[in-house]
Amino acid sequence: MPDMKNNCIFCAIAAGEIPSFKIYEDDDVLAYLDINPFTEGHTLVIPKAHYTGLLDAPDATLATLVSRVKKVAAHLKAALPCDGFNILQNNGAAAGQTVPHIHFHIVPRYGTGEGGVSFASGKGDMEKLAKLAERIRMA
Ligand code: AMP
Ligand code: ZN
Repeated sequence: MPDMKNNCIFCAIAAGEIPSFKIYEDDDVLAYLDINPFTEGHTLVIPKAHYTGLLDAPDATLATLVSRVKKVAAHLKAALPCDGFNILQNNGAAAGQTVPHIHFHIVPRYGTGEGGVSFASGKGDMEKLAKLAERIRMA
């Protein structure tokens, strides 16, 4: 397991040096309430080991993390209860990541639905999409 990273607030939470509103903990993973919740029950799920985001975290860490996201989300759905939930995972400042220790947001949703997470969408230009797919298709 990599060392805790200096000045990482989520490492400090994982080490118990900073308090959190803990929802779930095991040897590898911690889940706690977001202190600036989008909705009631907004929960963060982190690996105790420090990785910045999706691209530097090992697959085994991600596999464990996602399985715990599922476990905690299922629990929240029943315990809150909520009607649905969004899973968010931001990578990089451009994507709105403010804490560089990988975390999944579980955002409980209530009622019949005001829609999902809001991105402005436009109607796709089929020619442009075809060219883009050609350019970025994985070999
Ligand atoms: P992100 O924008 O994906 O990096 O999300 C970071 C989240 O961490 C934000 O939603 C913050 O409200 C939350 N956050 C920051 N500090 C704490 C803390 N000490 N305890 C709980 N949540 C925190
Ligand atoms: Zn960290």
